[in-house]
Amino acid sequence: MLDAQSGVRQFKAKVQRIGSAECTLSIGDIETSLPSANHVSAIEAMLADIPIKSIKAVGHRVVHGGDQFSSPVRINAEVEKAIESLIPMAPLHNPANLAGISTAKKHLPDIPHIAVFDTAFHQTLPRRAYTYAIPIEIQERHGFRRYGFHGTSHHWVARQTAIFLKEDLRDLRIITCHLGNGCSITAIENGRSIETSMGMSPLEGLVMGTRSGDIDPGLLLELQRREGLSIDEVDQLLNKQSGLLGLSKTSNDMRDIDQRASEGDDACRLAIRVFCHRLRKYIGAYAAVMGGVDAIVFTAGIGQNSAWIREQVTQPLGFLGAKLDGELNRVATVKQNNPVAIISTAFSRTKILVVATDEAHAIAKETEALVKNKDKVGNSKSIPVAVSARHIHLTQQAVETLFGKGHQLTPIKELSQPKQFACEERLTVIGPKNAIPKVRILGPVRGKCQIEISRTDEYKLGIDAPVRASGHVDNTPGITLEGPNGRLTLEHGIICAQRHIHMTPEDATYFSVHHKDIVEVAIDTDGRDLIFGDVLVRVSDKYTLEMHIDTDEANAAEISSGDISGMLIQTGHTATLRKRTI
Ligand code: ADP
Repeated sequence: MLDAQSGVRQFKAKVQRIGSAECTLSIGDIETSLPSANHVSAIEAMLADIPIKSIKAVGHRVVHGGDQFSSPVRINAEVEKAIESLIPMAPLHNPANLAGISTAKKHLPDIPHIAVFDTAFHQTLPRRAYTYAIPIEIQERHGFRRYGFHGTSHHWVARQTAIFLKEDLRDLRIITCHLGNGCSITAIENGRSIETSMGMSPLEGLVMGTRSGDIDPGLLLELQRREGLSIDEVDQLLNKQSGLLGLSKTSNDMRDIDQRASEGDDACRLAIRVFCHRLRKYIGAYAAVMGGVDAIVFTAGIGQNSAWIREQVTQPLGFLGAKLDGELNRVATVKQNNPVAIISTAFSRTKILVVATDEAHAIAKETEALVKNKDKVGNSKSIPVAVSARHIHLTQQAVETLFGKGHQLTPIKELSQPKQFACEERLTVIGPKNAIPKVRILGPVRGKCQIEISRTDEYKLGIDAPVRASGHVDNTPGITLEGPNGRLTLEHGIICAQRHIHMTPEDATYFSVHHKDIVEVAIDTDGRDLIFGDVLVRVSDKYTLEMHIDTDEANAAEISSGDISGMLIQTGHTATLRKRTI
């Protein structure tokens, strides 16, 4: 039980070794025995011992939310059913989560119960990152794909990092390493998870306490062929007998392994080497995925406590601009009231940090936000929807290269956002595969060139453009533009625009959202109603309330918008801001 704002604990209750004869319940320092308790009886025993009348809401950690939940939700019968339907994906966790939900609801029926999903933060993974290379129809039949876990922790430590660095999370590229009993690493680009090491199950990725992490899938077959193991035995071997435990033959606890390694135990030394090598490999890979990294963050039991592991992993990362300060690393201590320590040198371009994770506080905050938010965002003000076709923004210098010295763009139509206009000028966009002619330029000129295309255009051009908010063109692919005066090859600038809503500060107050918030928006059409997640809120007193989607998104919602070649067209359709995600 904790205060959602401050994170201060009023009561700490912990049930250990559930289901066994040695099961115990500790509340504060008092430990009682609960022989053979299950999840229901353990929660009931715990609730009997704490003052439940002062609880305002319950946040339930739910491990698997599949692709149905990208943010916390109020639990109702439908949500419980959805969690149940995901049991095949998380057979050990989701049933326990459901038992917790029904027991807590039975004893606290009059307060909100909110589910916070471990998978939710990773719902922004692009398709290329979450798809396995096995026949697609089999994946679709069973919902096989990479989901990622520990999302609450990765998101929390990334936010703490941004606060500490006095930066906006949405301007940073962060690699977060959650190293506890379970270990995972995430690439967070502009506040969104774009890669993570755990996959369909928490078995994929890093070496963990008892889980293998990545192995050659061929090994699974050989384990059955040569060792004669059944499917359940392979499951047991990879989940419970592998990782640090399997390698060290000693323990799944890094403290024990560390101790034995320093006494000369070769198996323990190898366990640490394999652990660190895998982690370093992933950091390099994720830096490549993001085209660089601003901060590398260590968290959870090993990440927060083992200076030696942090040193081994980061020592050779100078090529990424990450320089560890050995002394700061040795003395770094983080706690709830002092959650961040920097361990890189003053001149390290990439910061290295140790951040205390606090999943309970994160869940409490998300729970509180959703409960409060429901009262605020229960309105039905409609947002006009506009479809933005592929278009180009240019600098004055680029205009002159493409159209001739001194050329000024020629406005032909005002757009709905003040001072923006479509131009008479068009260009051919030339990609590695194909060219798209007559792409409209939108004015006025800007400080950076930017070309916004749809996913369909990407395939035509042969370009892999990231989903980005306008203006974020670093580490994006380049392209060649052709105009009447010649060609211009840009080193970067091509993006697939993140769907967004322009609004004034008054609109933002009305919807109780802030600049750069991510929201869900429901579009009501005659064809196919659609809820768009991952919609960016952009607030400025220079804007007019309007949601912008691209042509592919408009097609998906069956919004027909007439001739939209290169224009921004108001469609006559409206959207409703449904829910705010945190
Ligand atoms: P969980 O994933 O269960 O939440 P924690 O985040 O509490 O786990 O991490 C537990 C692990 O942290 C332990 O198994 C142990 O390996 C490791 N750990 C804790 N303290 C230290 C330390 N001082 N040095 C090395 N490893 C540590």
